[in-house]
Amino acid sequence: MSKLTVRDIDLKDKQVLVRADFNVPQDEQLNITDDARIRASLPTIRYILDSGARRVILMSHLGRPKGKIMEEYRLNSVARRLEQLLGQPVKKLKDCVGQKVKQEIDNAKEKIILLENLRFHPEEEKNDPKFASMIASLGEVFVNDAFGTAHRAHASTEGVTHFLQSVAGFLLDKEIRYLGEALKDPQRPFVVILGGGKVSDKINVIKNLLPQCDCLLIGGGMAYTFLLARGVKIGNSKLEKEKLDLAKEILNMALKTGKEIILPVDHVVVDKIEAGIAGIVVEGDIPDGKIAVDIGPRTIELFEGKLKGAKTVVWNGPLGIFEIDAFDNGTRRIAQFLSGLTAVTIIGGGDTAAAVAKFGLGDKMTHISTGGGASLEFLEGKVLPGIAALADKQ
Ligand code: ADP
Ligand code: MG
Repeated sequence: MSKLTVRDIDLKDKQVLVRADFNVPQDEQLNITDDARIRASLPTIRYILDSGARRVILMSHLGRPKGKIMEEYRLNSVARRLEQLLGQPVKKLKDCVGQKVKQEIDNAKEKIILLENLRFHPEEEKNDPKFASMIASLGEVFVNDAFGTAHRAHASTEGVTHFLQSVAGFLLDKEIRYLGEALKDPQRPFVVILGGGKVSDKINVIKNLLPQCDCLLIGGGMAYTFLLARGVKIGNSKLEKEKLDLAKEILNMALKTGKEIILPVDHVVVDKIEAGIAGIVVEGDIPDGKIAVDIGPRTIELFEGKLKGAKTVVWNGPLGIFEIDAFDNGTRRIAQFLSGLTAVTIIGGGDTAAAVAKFGLGDKMTHISTGGGASLEFLEGKVLPGIAALADKQ
């Protein structure tokens, strides 16, 4: 079901409450080390201001203060960066609810207000209805643009929607369109690439996407549990023994339903996972003691062959230990190949997004999901409470 967005409602003269994702990394001096999330929120904020809104009240969490005030998690640096980026004054408040906050908002000359870290109050993560109503009382309409927390029913993502008309901002809308709607009725052939550390993290993604896709390519650490399930020797590569039966079950399910699951046929292996060590390529069985850290050149070719004609590609999970340069080749080559396709290319998962960014290919993909956990739950086919709670399009 599609959701109403900021474009669908009248914002003129309204006081608009916006849940943004300003959960940015900071160094010890509290300098923001990556402001991508703040930049990503600007189109929605600018649109609301340009639509004649009286005020924009911004709110977010930062870090994990666990219901207590922690100086290092105040949103002061975020306010300053927002001011720079928007070229307009931002009034930063010292709390996010209460009479004083209300008064300060009413008396503010500034059009943009930033509330203090929502998670200084334990009621936020408990989705306390009273707290949610106090947040809601600060605005006349609610815009959720924080995809990274959409999988959590918190007061500022779900609770607040019980009190105000609630719509999606541009960031959230894009996630809904690509991870939600596009995958319900994908252009075919639809190829899924899964990798990353563990089978156990991705079981529900496999179960949800295998029936929908035409071909599933598996690489990364999780490939080795599957390879062992097929009787291939895996040396000391990543293995989740307790998931072997499940891997067999999934391979059987694919056979029965005529779905192709492609596993690596060659590997870059090492004796020890360490930067500065060059791996060697082995085909088929992996010798005793060796650890697979990347897919090999024949596997890259095999994967490229399956991706060549695809119309939709979803990729979650790096295909090797890409954090170490010597082992990032498979992930890099597949990212490069995707960037040359005319297909809809959708990247989900925090590490996969980081890998694509490392290779400088971020703007070559159709959509890179901004939420790690949230994008996984979306790919698992789960209903995300922060999205479900928004008003449906008629
Ligand atoms: P995402 O965050 O995109 O969902 P994951 O968290 O599932 O991805 O997986 C990322 C991790 O998987 C990376 O830290 C990477 O080093 C690891 N990984 C990839 N290939 C292997 C491998 N062959 N052996 C062990 N770990 C691997
Ligand atoms: Mg990860």
